[in-house]
Amino acid sequence: MSTAATPAIEGWFTTGAEPRLIGTKCTTCGNLSFPRATTFCPNPACAGTEFADTELSRTGTVWSYTDAQYQPPAPYIPAADPYEPFALAAVELPEGIVVLGQVADGYGVDDLTVGAEVELVVETLYTDETGERTIWRWKPVTADSEGSKA
Ligand SMILES: [Zn+2]
Repeated sequence: MSTAATPAIEGWFTTGAEPRLIGTKCTTCGNLSFPRATTFCPNPACAGTEFADTELSRTGTVWSYTDAQYQPPAPYIPAADPYEPFALAAVELPEGIVVLGQVADGYGVDDLTVGAEVELVVETLYTDETGERTIWRWKPVTADSEGSKA
C-alpha cells in the first residue's frame, strides 16, 4: 500500500532529484513570470496573451526574508496546531525575478542572510488521505562544517 507524493499545487514546479519551478515566458516580449502568467503579460508595455512554460533556475540569492508570524494563505495550511511560525524567503533568480517560498525544514531566519545562495528543494507540506502533498522550499547552500556566523 503506497501513496504517491504529489504537488500541493499543480503545475508550479517539477519534482525529482533536481526540482525546478515552472514559470512562463511571454511569446511576444520574452518577459518571465512566476507564478505563471495566464491571461496577460506582466510587462505593461506588452499586449501579449500567449505564454510558454519555462523551467527556472534551481538556485538564487536571498533578497529578503522574514518570520511568518501569521497564518499564511492556501496552500500553506498549518502543519501544526497551534500555528508554528516559519521562515519565508524572497529569492532573486538569475532570470531577475523574485520568488517567495518557505525555508527548508530545519532552517530558520538565523540561517539566512541577504545575498546568500539558496537552492530549490521540494518537501512535504502536509499529508492527507491521498498521500503526501509537496511544496517548493528554499534551502540555504552552506558548507556544513563551517560554523562561522557573524
Ligand atoms: Zn509580453
